[in-house]
Amino acid sequence: MAALAELGGRAVAVIGEGVVDVGRASDGRLSADPMEVLAGWDGFVDWASGLGAGDADAPLDPGALGPPVPRPRKVFGVGLNYRDHAEEAGLEVPKEPLIFTKFPSCLAGPRAEIPLTSDRVDWEVELVVAVGRGGRAIPERDALGHVAGYCVGQDVSDRRAQFAGRPPQFSMGKSADGFGPLGPALVSADVIGDPGDLRLTCDVSGEHMQDGTTRDLIFAVPELVSWLSRHLTLEPGDLVFTGTPAGVGAVREPRRYLRDGDVVESAIDGLGVLRNRCTGP
Ligand code: ZN
Repeated sequence: MAALAELGGRAVAVIGEGVVDVGRASDGRLSADPMEVLAGWDGFVDWASGLGAGDADAPLDPGALGPPVPRPRKVFGVGLNYRDHAEEAGLEVPKEPLIFTKFPSCLAGPRAEIPLTSDRVDWEVELVVAVGRGGRAIPERDALGHVAGYCVGQDVSDRRAQFAGRPPQFSMGKSADGFGPLGPALVSADVIGDPGDLRLTCDVSGEHMQDGTTRDLIFAVPELVSWLSRHLTLEPGDLVFTGTPAGVGAVREPRRYLRDGDVVESAIDGLGVLRNRCTGP
């Protein structure tokens, strides 16, 4: 049972309302680099499970945190992975996962600002999976054993860039600076147990926009991990944004996009809340 966050470029373990520096508190046995911690995930979980409230060396300040997985080699996005979202978009339920990439440079902290790139930037709350033990051709029945943990993600999407041409392209519209708020911490998989029964919500400036459950995923977490690993080798820290439920702005009546000053609150049961203020364009 553990939660990893990133503070000032260093790995910290979250203990209740406090944090402790992983490298210092473990006397260098564990790395100060969150990506190295992910590569030795089981050791981190064992060590963090033994911590108590008195071990914290600073209060938890979400505004100071970076993304808990700051430099993954791959960040996958999954398009149309909730039935209700495929329906609201008027598109067929896919027969194979629809994968795009969010370039890792878009990742941002749980309270980071979202710099808007046009007047059609949209929200998508998503369950994000972080790979722990990598692998290739991972059978579905073993897939959850390769997951380090879970966190909340926002797949911020510029619909103008996404749908500017034909066919539409996803990666560029979803990878602008700050378009991947993540966190607040990476919660170890044993805490969550079944990732297929989590409620996820998104509120924009107090208006309740999305309210879904991962029970409605078309391709559930084990299937996604297994499917991806049939195409390439998964590595520690690789992230999967698993898709968003209904309620995005582009298909609302009337349409609603993010504006300067809007605050996007994205929450998932047991994983916490992201709170990101929009600026510009
Ligand atoms: Zn998405």
